[in-house]
Formats: sequence, structure tokens, C-alpha cells
Amino acid sequence: MTRFAYLDHNASTPVRPEAAAAASVAMHAIGNGSSPHRFGRMVRRLIDDARVRVADLVGAEPSSIVFTSGGTEANSLALCGVRRRRIIASDVEHASVLRATGRVERIPVDGNGCVDLDRLSAMLAKDPRPALVSVMVANNETGVIQPVAEVSAVAKRFSALVHTDAVQAAGKIPVDMRALGADLLSLSAHKIGGLAGAGALVIAPDVSITPMVRGGGQERERRSGTENVVGISAFGAAAGAVRRELVSGSASRLTSLRDDLEDRIRAVAPGSMIFGVEAARLPNTSCLTMPGVSGETQVLALDLDGISVGAGAACSSGKGSRSPVLAAMRIPSSVASEAIRISLGWTSRRDDIDRFVQAWTALYAHTRGRRRASTSRPDVVAAP
Ligand code: PLP
Repeated sequence: MTRFAYLDHNASTPVRPEAAAAASVAMHAIGNGSSPHRFGRMVRRLIDDARVRVADLVGAEPSSIVFTSGGTEANSLALCGVRRRRIIASDVEHASVLRATGRVERIPVDGNGCVDLDRLSAMLAKDPRPALVSVMVANNETGVIQPVAEVSAVAKRFSALVHTDAVQAAGKIPVDMRALGADLLSLSAHKIGGLAGAGALVIAPDVSITPMVRGGGQERERRSGTENVVGISAFGAAAGAVRRELVSGSASRLTSLRDDLEDRIRAVAPGSMIFGVEAARLPNTSCLTMPGVSGETQVLALDLDGISVGAGAACSSGKGSRSPVLAAMRIPSSVASEAIRISLGWTSRRDDIDRFVQAWTALYAHTRGRRRASTSRPDVVAAP
């Protein structure tokens, strides 16, 4: 039987066995974590165990964790809940940050997608109203890692709070909330091998937040509603698994797979562009172009070959619309439209890379042959 090559882990990574086992236990737990009887206490224990593991993943206190329905809600809670007059976010943030409130000021990024610290400083200097600065740890499309500790140093000079979206970085690189200087940090379970529909906002002890969901006062009055014990337990188990992986260094095997993939693509198509390649990137992500072939065509053709990759802003829509991240990096839209995102994860193997390179190479050769037959126009790619 043919094995599918799933190379879209930044969209969602397969559920880890540890998470599936924890979900199964939690599914059979009876009761409500707020009940004082033995069943309630059992559910409470599952939630609190998960809280400790999720906190450990980012070097936080368990009491700092507020479980949410995912990364989107965590980002919304951070941006709306801090009640700051100004919200300043990088131009390459996920839509759940940029659309969280109607008044997000954008910090520009350079050609590699790294945030411009001087511009941030100037933005903060020109308006003294209390601000929240939101800059992600790593980008979902390019994998580019932002200098969040430096962002925090700038923000603190102006007494601004700092939020960081660590949804893509968590489990792929070490993330330590204190070292980053962040006051608020967002996580999502399904990006680390838990279930979709669970996430967390980590809130530093001295930061107060106005809840968006009010009711029974769960999560220390910061997010009401009976806890999703199945999703939370799986999240905790996945957090434990990725932490063990990071400690053992086994996550670095993805760097060698990703670098091998990029070397082979460059050898086949020297005109292929790899975005953010001069910046520090996550070990698992590669956003690259096939000259003359739209990302959408590549995704569909590769899918027919049993290989799943992401196109454009696939993390949020999968619709193949123009990527706002590449636009913010000032990549011409003709080039950006040729981009696909390959993102590896815990199930990725070397033969997935071999299959991808083989299929991508065959598609490239096929489309070049067709273009040569139909036109004498050379295969030129504009530099960004
Ligand atoms: N932030 C980033 C950087 C993401 O890539 C995603 C992915 O969709 C989210 C936030 C939203 O997370 P969730 O799917 O858990 O709502």
C-alpha cells in the first residue's frame, strides 16, 4: 500500500500516541471538574496535571495557564483582554492577531520577514498611550523566528506589555516565556500533537486580564465554561512528549531533512526562491517557489501523487489566496503566487522527502517542457 507523505504539519500535526491515550482516559472520566465529589476531583486532577505539563513546556507557573479553545482564542484573549489603548503587532502575525481587534498598528518587517526594531521603537516613542506589542515567536508560513527578547527589551523601555504567539514555535524549538520577556504567550494543542479545539494563553503573574467569556468563573475567573477535559488532557500529554523530544535533541533531525530537501530543490531548479532563508528559521518549515507554476497547481498535482503540502496562507484558509506574509516581505505577487509551504513533523521520514523531491522535480520538468513547446519565453523569476 502506498504511504501518503503528509508534509503540512504547520496546519495541523497528527495526534501523538501519548495524546490519544490521554484523551481516551479523559473521555471515560465522569463528571465536571468543578464538582467537589470524587468524580469531579478526578477530572480536576486530569486538568491540573495537564496544566503542569503545558506550563513546563514554556517555563511558566501552572497558575499562569488559562486553557482556551485554541490558539485563535488565546490570541484574542491576549489582545482584547489587556485593555491597552494601543495594540501594535508585526505585519506577519497570524490573522487571529491582526483581526483580534479593529485597531492593530502594524510594525513592518524586512525582506526575510524579521520585525523592524527601530520602527517599533519609533512607534512607541511617538505616542505615550499604554500599549501591547504582539510579535510571534515563529511564523507559520516561512518558519522565520522573530527576535522576541529584543522586542521585549524595546517594549519595556516604553512600559508596553508584550504578547507572543508561540503556536508554531512550541515543541519545535525551546520556548521560555521568561527568557523571551513576554507577559502573555499563546499555544495551540493541535500544532504539537494534541487535539484541535484546545489551547492556552499563558499570563505572567503580575498581568491582569479582563475575561472575554464570563460565567462560572473557571480558570481563575479568566475564562469561564466547563473545561474541555479530553482536549486539555491530550494537550498536556502532547506537551510532555514534545518537551522530552526537545530535551533529547531528536527534534533536530528535522533540520537535516529540511536542509536536504532545500539543497535538492535548489539543484533541480536554481531559480526557486526559499523565503526567509537568511534568517533563523524553525527546523521543520520551508516556503519555496516553483518558477512559472502556481502554488495551487503544485498543491493539487502533489496531492494526486499522495503528497500533502500547504499553499499560500494555507494555515488560515487553504484557499490559495495571496499570502499576506509574503506581501509584507515585499515579495512580488507573481513570485509569491508560486510558493508552497512544506512543513515536517514527528511522523516525517526521509522517504517522505525523497517522494516530495521526486514528484516536485517531475512536475517542474513537465511544466518546463510544456512551456518550451508553447512559447520561446525564458523561465525568468523576478528577484524580491
Ligand atoms: N497562530 C499561529 C501562528 C498559527 O499558525 C495558528 C494556526 O492556525 C493559530 C495562531 C491559530 O491556532 P488554532 O488553530 O488553535 O486556533
